[in-house]
Amino acid sequence: MAATLDIVPIEEWGFFTLPRPMVIAGPCSAESEEQVMETAEDLASRGIHVFRAGIWKPRTHPGSFEGIGVMGLKWLRRVKEETGMKVSTEVASAKHVYECLKYGIDMVWIGARTTANPFLVQEIAEALTDTDIPVLVKNPVNPDIDLWIGALERLSRAGVRKLGVIHRGFSTTESIPYRNAPGWHLAIELRTRYPHLPFFADPSHMGGSRDYLQEISQKAMDLGLEGLMVESHCKPDAALSDSKQQVTPEALLELLESLQIRDADTDDRQYREGIDQLRAQIDILDESILYNLGSRMSVSAKIGEYKRDHNIAILQASRWDEVLKAMHSKAEKYGLSEKFITEVYNAIHEESVRVQNEILSGGKKE
Ligand code: PEP
Ligand code: MN
Repeated sequence: MAATLDIVPIEEWGFFTLPRPMVIAGPCSAESEEQVMETAEDLASRGIHVFRAGIWKPRTHPGSFEGIGVMGLKWLRRVKEETGMKVSTEVASAKHVYECLKYGIDMVWIGARTTANPFLVQEIAEALTDTDIPVLVKNPVNPDIDLWIGALERLSRAGVRKLGVIHRGFSTTESIPYRNAPGWHLAIELRTRYPHLPFFADPSHMGGSRDYLQEISQKAMDLGLEGLMVESHCKPDAALSDSKQQVTPEALLELLESLQIRDADTDDRQYREGIDQLRAQIDILDESILYNLGSRMSVSAKIGEYKRDHNIAILQASRWDEVLKAMHSKAEKYGLSEKFITEVYNAIHEESVRVQNEILSGGKKE
């Protein structure tokens, strides 16, 4: 069971203003003092309050631009002093954290490759103990929600209470148009488990191209996420890293203005009554789904006993194929997709087999 997280509401961090989206923007990497200042001033003049720039860059190949290092922290400090923006960067080790604290960096984030490494997350968490700076945790590169939650728990145990997450998609071997697979269902799962955890999407790294920024950002807003982290560069095409996915501050503003923001909730009475009725129906249906699943499992257990008494193997693949086929043809009638029904029934089947195995191995006798 995952631990609860003690979180300071994001409205109290003093970083972001409403309405949504709360925006963090800035270049993938700090490249030069001029590039950092020009980008930051342009963003600040367009109402962006929180700046990002990578100083230490986790690159796939050695020899590509691996970040400017500590020198960039001085530029971020200048951004803070001259524009009044809050400044943030990625940390991947305790040493990075100490450097950031030395230069007054306002917020840090943990990158996807680092979240996947509990040793590094632990040392970062320990380095952040007794500090008050917000920490945003990107999802791990692989679609493992527990690894993501584990990182949040490590930070929470170290006393980090200004905690949030950034969804940037997952590595995949499938051929998809995006750079990373959205895996929105995992974001929804995390959101459901921790409804008060501030949630950002990173359309830049998810899409990997300017072309997808709008649709991904809109999706994030439709899911009710609080904010967006978007890579923005004064001269995107000349960027030393991730040039295809960066946009000018001007294009970023156009993107933000194009978003349709729907209310997360409302006090409208008619709406409330309507939704309450529908939710009551859902609760009744959920209860009956549980009742039916329970009944199905007891019949399954009886079959298990029957098989045991007649010395029959548990798994009869042909029978399962028949069940699935029958469900597919019925599914259409109920407006359910074949994919969904396959997933649901495979989960049910797996549990039936487990129950029957328990009976066969004598673990459970009724
Ligand atoms: C970044 O934000 O620049 C970055 C490296 O992102 P990610 O960790 O999501 O790959
Ligand atoms: Mn990047």
